[in-house]
Amino acid sequence: MIIAIDGPSASGKSTTAKAVSKRLGFIHLDTGAMYRAVTLGISESEIELNDQSKVELYLKSLKIEFDQNDQIMLNGKNVTDSIRTVKISSNVSKVSAILEVREKMVQVQRNIAGGNNCVLEGRDIGTVVFPNADFKFFLIADITIRAKRRFLDLQESNELLTLSELIESIRKRDELDSKRDFSPLRQAKDAIVIDTSFLTIEQQVNRIVEIVKQNKKRKHKEYV
Ligand code: C5P
Repeated sequence: MIIAIDGPSASGKSTTAKAVSKRLGFIHLDTGAMYRAVTLGISESEIELNDQSKVELYLKSLKIEFDQNDQIMLNGKNVTDSIRTVKISSNVSKVSAILEVREKMVQVQRNIAGGNNCVLEGRDIGTVVFPNADFKFFLIADITIRAKRRFLDLQESNELLTLSELIESIRKRDELDSKRDFSPLRQAKDAIVIDTSFLTIEQQVNRIVEIVKQNKKRKHKEYV
């Protein structure tokens, strides 16, 4: 079974997807972490984004994996923390707009999730990666509330941005992600929209888990 959770930046996807996968005993795939890892790799290799042949060569040797603890490995190195910097957040939308990057990531995502029970979170899961996903959710939230959540996340790091800087960076990333040519951030027609602005994490997780459990039963009845 495939559960797709898409939505804009800081709409609550990661926390929700992790908790939903735990409740259902499914694997969890954070596809945003994968685009962040490529962004880190390209930047460390000092490759210009418009140098297509170098980007393609880099992608050929690229290996992205997750270990059992959901840690992301880039060519064998644990990059779980280093992909969460402000610099990576500001550059990731440019890297994820490159067609060759997307093709490679989608292939890896389908390999990891295919044949498994998986909750995937991202921007294009319900539209491109798994258009026939069993369940599709699209999380949204007010931009100031989203920025406040990021603000709290950043308190744990030493990178402090003001609330208005965060609002601006989230707005810019959403705009780039929504306007790119390939696989833009878009709500699938058959996705269930959940506005997380005034929901607790527990409430948003419960809502998804209940929908999945109820409809699984209904589907089962119809088939018998
Ligand atoms: O989810 P997160 O904010 O970590 O995603 C980082 C970036 O990765 C997004 O802003 C977007 O540019 C890209 N992304 C994507 N497609 C996905 C997941 C993330 O383009 N499925």
